[in-house]
Amino acid sequence: MTAKRIVDVLVPVALDHPYSYGVPRGMTVETGQVVRVPLGPRESTGVVWGEGEWKPGLHNRLKDITDIVPVPPLTDELRGFVDWLSNYTLSPRGMVLRMALRMNEHLGPERERVGIRLAGPKPQRMTPARGRVLRLLEDGFVRPKGEAAREAGVSPSVIDGLVDDGALEAVALKPEPIAETPDPTYDVPTLTAAQEKAAGALREAVKAETFAVTLLDGVTGSGKTDVYFEAVAQAVRAGRQTLILMPEIALTNAFLDRFAARFGVRPAEWHSQVAPRRRARTWAGIASGEIPVVVGARSALFLPFVNPGLIIVDEEHDAVYKQEDGVHYHARDMAVVRARIANVPIILSSATPSVETEVNARKSRYTRLSLPERFGGQQMPHMEAIDLKREGPIRGRYIAPRLAEAVGIAIERGEQALLFLNRRGYAPLTLCRGCGHRLQCPNCDAWLVEHRFRRQLSCHHCGFTTSPPKSCPKCNAVDSFVAVGPGVERLEEEVASLFPNARAMVLSSDLIVGVERMQQEFAEIAEGRVDIVVGTQLVAKGHHFPKLNLVGVVDADMGLGQGDPRAAERTFQLLHQVAGRAGRETGQGHGFLQTHQPEHPVIRALLSGDREAFYGSEIASREKFGYPPFGRLASLVVTGADKHKTEAHAKKLVALAPSDPAVRILGPAEAPLALVRGRHRYRVLIKSPRAFDLSGYMRDWIALAPKMTGGIKREVDIDPQSF
Ligand code: ADP
Ligand code: ZN
Repeated sequence: MTAKRIVDVLVPVALDHPYSYGVPRGMTVETGQVVRVPLGPRESTGVVWGEGEWKPGLHNRLKDITDIVPVPPLTDELRGFVDWLSNYTLSPRGMVLRMALRMNEHLGPERERVGIRLAGPKPQRMTPARGRVLRLLEDGFVRPKGEAAREAGVSPSVIDGLVDDGALEAVALKPEPIAETPDPTYDVPTLTAAQEKAAGALREAVKAETFAVTLLDGVTGSGKTDVYFEAVAQAVRAGRQTLILMPEIALTNAFLDRFAARFGVRPAEWHSQVAPRRRARTWAGIASGEIPVVVGARSALFLPFVNPGLIIVDEEHDAVYKQEDGVHYHARDMAVVRARIANVPIILSSATPSVETEVNARKSRYTRLSLPERFGGQQMPHMEAIDLKREGPIRGRYIAPRLAEAVGIAIERGEQALLFLNRRGYAPLTLCRGCGHRLQCPNCDAWLVEHRFRRQLSCHHCGFTTSPPKSCPKCNAVDSFVAVGPGVERLEEEVASLFPNARAMVLSSDLIVGVERMQQEFAEIAEGRVDIVVGTQLVAKGHHFPKLNLVGVVDADMGLGQGDPRAAERTFQLLHQVAGRAGRETGQGHGFLQTHQPEHPVIRALLSGDREAFYGSEIASREKFGYPPFGRLASLVVTGADKHKTEAHAKKLVALAPSDPAVRILGPAEAPLALVRGRHRYRVLIKSPRAFDLSGYMRDWIALAPKMTGGIKREVDIDPQSF
């Protein structure tokens, strides 16, 4: 008798190592197989990670695999990616696997959809409910059972009864297709010479079937999407799968339509709003190779492509690609890693590449393809500064006279204006005129933001909300509160008083419930049913509003001048994108930047349209201080309810850090937000040269760390976004 086979199964829990399980006789499993295993008192899905071995005493505890989940096994490539990412981010492998098994509770054979149709004579027993069902099905067509029950206003049991009596017949329905194969020849655009050159290079990259990174660097409106669609077409022709990552799911609908216009069918979608069963089918369709193209949010990076051929990261500079809870990872960087492991080409697309990507392109680690002009000969908007020190609005107002005048002219011409202010609510600060008391969040080191539409004060960090107090909690003065500074709601109030006849709309994530509603509002703007849009960053990204000709940035300094060196980059990218909304079809667009510091390098680069001015100075300063991408950074954040204990733990950790001449340790210091949700935060920053295994160093260090007691928590973030 041969010994029982033992395999190592990784389960999606906070563990680094797989557990050993026995393979029952008669069951065959291969590496990567998705299986069900007993785990403590419950059962869990897991993945066979490799062969196990006998260890002394194991036979007493060894449990068997219960079942095989009928989906294709995870490929070596995906398992290699999970291992790599876990090792790099210091997250337990099981937690990384969990992201690749996001649909596990809905896996398995699909519940069959049942259809019904008329089959025989009227049953003997008739009721009004039965009558409604039979009338609905009079035409003889098949209808899904659930739908028929809903339409006829009856419970499904009424239908079952009619089937039992022979009046209706049940038939099995095929599940709706998730995604059909795109047709590369469906509607091929005529590309401009510059676009064709870039598209040709991308096609070659796809044909080469090897890892290579291309930066598709084109100004807003240059047609980057049309260009990378040619790479998708090439992958489809070659029968290989494409993953397109997008930062904003609110944008994907317009994108899916655009894809359908080019390829005749919509691609599959992957994000949190996709219903669970559909997700499970999408997952299985990707694992079986039936789904050729997926468009998704960062979590799509963990999908089980069986035959990958191309990865595209749209708006690669976008900060939402960084996940900052659970497993901390940057989806753009990890997309490059996955492309390398899968040995496929990857395209990073942006009008304002991240400094990291820009440096990689300058050092020729990435190939740059440039689209320096807008499609259709449209010019980039003409930018002007409004120096708030000299020509600002009167106190309590936020729109300078020159900007107001330009808005007036634009709407008179039938064009649209966008006033951009990246701050939700009415006012960021409320203070007592009597004693100067500021309304603060009780859980966070932050002011409460007034939301006048909702008659609430709320904290933008923990979500705490309260109604505005009648009197000052400190000096008891009644009605003494004043709102300080503008939010979009306050700006809209000013717009209404300046332009009483204009149609204005505020776009801010807290005022719009649901993706559908948001898409409606975007459609209204695109159709020209709005004159003045007042919006946060929600309107900055990717939208195409044909009538928009004027963009006014109300506070261009916001975000600059904070301690964070990355603030300059973010402000540059955001404002460049906002400005890029203007003049996409209206001819010469205009942009105004209201600023207190017109000489700031970021503001100057935005005004002159000279991107090099920004990248040049930013890259030089990163290099000088050894910041990424010239050096590596990690952060270690210690949080806890008790300030002293938290600080003490952080100090103890720093004292235990292995000494290494390559590493510099800064802190602990109170984190930029020192108190969030009632937890104090201390941060340690760790700096090393580029060619240094910082993840390995951090792992060795954490192994020496004291036990976390008293609710203390630690978070390691490799490549933190703020530093
Ligand atoms: P980007 O992503 O670079 O900002 P888009 O891809 O959104 O630019 O293109 C801007 C607009 O120009 C879109 O409406 C797009 O359909 C149009 N466009 C770009 N290239 C072409 C082309 N070759 N033929 C027709 N329309 C094009
Ligand atoms: Zn709070």
